[in-house]
Amino acid sequence: MPLMRIPYTAPLPSPTIIPASASTLQGALGALVDFINPPVNTAPGNGNGKTVILSGAGISVASGLADYRGSNGTYTLNKTYKPVYYHEFCAGHEARKRYWARSYLGWTNLHKSRPNRAHEAVGALGELGKLSSVITQNVDSFHPKQHPRLKTLELHGYLRSTICISCRTEYDREQFQRDLSELNPAWSDFLAEMLESGALSTENPVERRMKGLKTNPDGDVDVPGVEYSTFRYPACPACLASPPAGSKVEQSADGAWLPSSTAGVLKPAVIMFGESIPGSVKLAVEEAIDEASRILVLGSSLATYSAWRLVKRAKERGMPIGIINLGGVRGEEQFFAGASLDGLGREALRCSVSLEEILPALVDHLRHDDARIVSDKAVFQPAPWR
Ligand SMILES: [Zn+2]
Repeated sequence: MPLMRIPYTAPLPSPTIIPASASTLQGALGALVDFINPPVNTAPGNGNGKTVILSGAGISVASGLADYRGSNGTYTLNKTYKPVYYHEFCAGHEARKRYWARSYLGWTNLHKSRPNRAHEAVGALGELGKLSSVITQNVDSFHPKQHPRLKTLELHGYLRSTICISCRTEYDREQFQRDLSELNPAWSDFLAEMLESGALSTENPVERRMKGLKTNPDGDVDVPGVEYSTFRYPACPACLASPPAGSKVEQSADGAWLPSSTAGVLKPAVIMFGESIPGSVKLAVEEAIDEASRILVLGSSLATYSAWRLVKRAKERGMPIGIINLGGVRGEEQFFAGASLDGLGREALRCSVSLEEILPALVDHLRHDDARIVSDKAVFQPAPWR
């Protein structure tokens, strides 16, 4: 059965903090140290002794980024926001015009955003040998950008490329942005104006309105005097040069995909809602779970089943589960059933603290700890008869 990306938008209850001592930042740090760095004799028999990270939109919020759903990965800011589904995107020229127009306006903000202290700390944990890999639901490429030497698996794809629905060729999103500017000069002028006013650097509808950008109740950007239906996008160059068998790909004189075409449509290289995750990715993330000894969820409410089932898999394998997320997590009570509230953290961890605070503090602690071990070794003198 194909694995699809489907959002889950029901409200989630507040978490039970585990262990109870993890309700303060300092307590959570102690529990996290015990979780990620348990004494050797308590390490589980299975796995490589390391931790696999599963990250979500919460880790990118400090980068000033809303994920491509338009509201920091949650549905609380704009409850009526409805993402474009994969089948709508594939079936309709109109849906694609709307998607690419919004994406065109949003790209600049994503492009200028950078990984934050939490991503940096994840990279440092990798260097310290604590992590086996990172699985991320985020499409912002911050993990691979920040720590290229630590394996990152992008469960829901990435926005840095576009991909052809017909021939699967990938293209650079930045070049695609330049193509969109050339094909849509009125939009290009509008984008320049909005960048000037700062209206696009905020997600807050009130602030946006004050800066001259109107946001409709459904989250659409209202562009004065310009209709979505006028937006144009290019065809896949490979399909244009050599159309797939039985299809035709046509473009206007200045390079816009024409609806008379039956192939050559580019989509973002993300797994859109309602789209199946490729079999190779599904297999790779399952392997990443299976090879690790414990799983640590960072900044995710596990709202998509594709992410939730990975934690369920870890649970079935008897791996300790840790979750650091502000607010509730879908179905978390079943992950922590029977967990001791007066434990140390190594068996189960659930806290609701800021990732940009706790992760750098964890790295500091572990580095300090490592330094102490090294200095202990330095003063140790072997007995003369050995
Ligand atoms: Zn193509």
